[in-house]
Amino acid sequence: MTRTLMTIGECMVEMAPTPDGHFAMSFAGDMFNTVWYARRCAGNGLRVAFLSAIGDDAVSADMERFMRSAGVEPILPVVPGKSVGLYLISLNNGERSFSYWRSDSAARRLTDGIDQLPGLGAGDWVLISGITLAILNTSRRDRLMTLLHDAHTRGVGIAFDPNIRPRLWDNSDEMRHWIMQAAASADLVLPSFDDEATHFGDHTPDATIARYREAGAGCVVVKNGPGQVCAAEGDAPVLCVQPPVVSDVVDTTAAGDAFNGGFLAARIGGASLHDSIGAGCALAARVIGARGALVAVELNPT
Ligand code: AMP
Repeated sequence: MTRTLMTIGECMVEMAPTPDGHFAMSFAGDMFNTVWYARRCAGNGLRVAFLSAIGDDAVSADMERFMRSAGVEPILPVVPGKSVGLYLISLNNGERSFSYWRSDSAARRLTDGIDQLPGLGAGDWVLISGITLAILNTSRRDRLMTLLHDAHTRGVGIAFDPNIRPRLWDNSDEMRHWIMQAAASADLVLPSFDDEATHFGDHTPDATIARYREAGAGCVVVKNGPGQVCAAEGDAPVLCVQPPVVSDVVDTTAAGDAFNGGFLAARIGGASLHDSIGAGCALAARVIGARGALVAVELNPT
């Protein structure tokens, strides 16, 4: 039976410097990267879809074509007069820094005109992130939570990656409030320990697991860079899995997104929690060994 994974968020134009002094254009964003990776490792047993909004200009149409050609089903209402967000990578002695133009992007209106998350039923999954929440104003955030709640009552699993980005929020109390609220109603929470330690003061991954589970989250899977991934669900004791050692880390951009894509593809396909974490770690290890958000791992041919 074909299951669906839908992610919701913002995909942006990426302008990355090339060695000859020019810029290469691509498309990326946490929730799109995740579904792109899920597509590449899941095979045909999984339908993957990305819900956002685009403008009515040429680059918006290019983005939609790019998604289709990657095997991701775009659900992209058009917002007249708007365009998609853009970020530019600068390199200074090998250090990357990012500049963003996204404050008025079409994706900020992604809930407008949507009555129900389309094409989802029992056994399907939806993933949002803290970035998805951060780009919406309060009434659209409320709307998104209602859409997720409705989907949940139809048997759709809700997953949430806090992906904490303080620069996108007005203040940190609001940020923490919404992140806890989204996590509390999620079946699966996929935090990165670094962020949780910085913004919630957790001393250990176990503390992160406890905080989200006490709030009401179902399964919690804590990523921790090269450290063990620790996870808990139901009454089972905390399970920890060591990622493979990567001797030549080239670029950790999108490591968490790749982990999420590999994990979700495996989990929705019926793998155990342990094996799903292993799948996420294996994919992330390959992604950090090459440059860029979308690393061309081969497609699963099944
Ligand atoms: P993070 O969001 O930084 O915690 O990383 C997400 C996932 O990427 C981790 O759970 C690991 O599976 C993988 N990862 C990140 N950094 C490294 C590293 N230096 N060595 C091996 N795996 C890594």
